[in-house]
Amino acid sequence: MSEFAYADFINGQYEPLLSTDQIQKRITELAQEISDDYENNCPVLIGVLNGAFIFMGDLVKQLTINCEVDFIKISSYGKAKKSSGKIDVLKDIDCHLEGRDVLVIEDIVDSGLSVKFLEQKIKSCEPNSLKFVSLLQKKDSAQVDFEIDYLGFWIPNEFVVGYGLDFAQKLRNLPAIYILK
Ligand code: 5GP
Ligand code: MG
Repeated sequence: MSEFAYADFINGQYEPLLSTDQIQKRITELAQEISDDYENNCPVLIGVLNGAFIFMGDLVKQLTINCEVDFIKISSYGKAKKSSGKIDVLKDIDCHLEGRDVLVIEDIVDSGLSVKFLEQKIKSCEPNSLKFVSLLQKKDSAQVDFEIDYLGFWIPNEFVVGYGLDFAQKLRNLPAIYILK
């Protein structure tokens, strides 16, 4: 089955943005960079549910260092395409972060409000270090100035789906990334 088949049910209102090949090549580069930078550490990777689950899975498989994984689930979008700006913690981090080297794994940075929220929350746990990884970041969209330490791709300021990213909880299983028109 082609990568396009599942998107057919939204009446062709999509446009390919990043292919599985492009995504995997970039993840290999990011994993190499992170493995080099954390060679002598054992970082805790905190995946931000639900969107980051596929990216995080592919990324950790290519890390050549010891690491631990945990997850946080936050909500800000609900079923809307635009962020409501209000962030709730739906599932909190379980492990102790004090003194640890923490890497937050995000799918996409749009307004930057989520990463800002996570930065404040995790900093209050007094980690030894805190850095952010995101597969995608939207150009000209940020409400808060935030520099991602390990970024996969800058993308246009459009709503994207696939590779973990949803539209009303669906289309996360598309293996590539599409712009939803
Ligand atoms: P921010 O707080 O930076 O505005 O948005 C962060 C979260 O909103 C992301 O982690 C992601 O879950 C969701 N989000 C932002 N832009 C998009 C998008 O284009 N498509 C999808 N599916 N989710 C998005
Ligand atoms: Mg996210």
